[in-house]
Amino acid sequence: MKRQECVHCGETVVVADDGETVTGGETPVAHLQRTGHAHIREPRPTGCPHCGYLWMYSGEADMATCPNCRGKAVPGEIPDTE
Ligand SMILES: [Zn+2]
Ligand SMILES: [Zn+2]
Repeated sequence: MKRQECVHCGETVVVADDGETVTGGETPVAHLQRTGHAHIREPRPTGCPHCGYLWMYSGEADMATCPNCRGKAVPGEIPDTE
């Protein structure tokens, strides 16, 4: 089970893994039904400022970890490499 914040209102939604029962929050579907807020974060194109690697980051952390060099990158930002 994984907690994520709704990008629209910041409330916590709980994403269950297979077979888990959701406790302590709404599922994304329940949140959508109640508020009309569509599911949480989409994968974002993210560029690594350290090595220039570009990938689709789908996590919910404030900082993404580059799969190439393990450096930190800001999700959704593609740094100017020049
Ligand atoms: Zn919301
Ligand atoms: Zn990198």
